[in-house]
Amino acid sequence: MIRGRCPICSKTYEIQALADLPTFPFCCERCRLIDLGRWIDGNYAIPGGPESTEKEEELSADDAD
Ligand SMILES: [Zn+2]
Repeated sequence: MIRGRCPICSKTYEIQALADLPTFPFCCERCRLIDLGRWIDGNYAIPGGPESTEKEEELSADDAD
């Protein structure tokens, strides 16, 4: 049993082996991509990400808050 916590959304998970979680140490593909975008380019906008950016004018189509 391996227990971990996603560094992006802080969600905890339990897996039997690392093979059970291809996105380790992230809980899901979405969180993995969010982290990837962060270090590739700070200006890279992730749709639906947990953190809002200052470049929201480019995402005016989705105004849900
Ligand atoms: Zn996560």
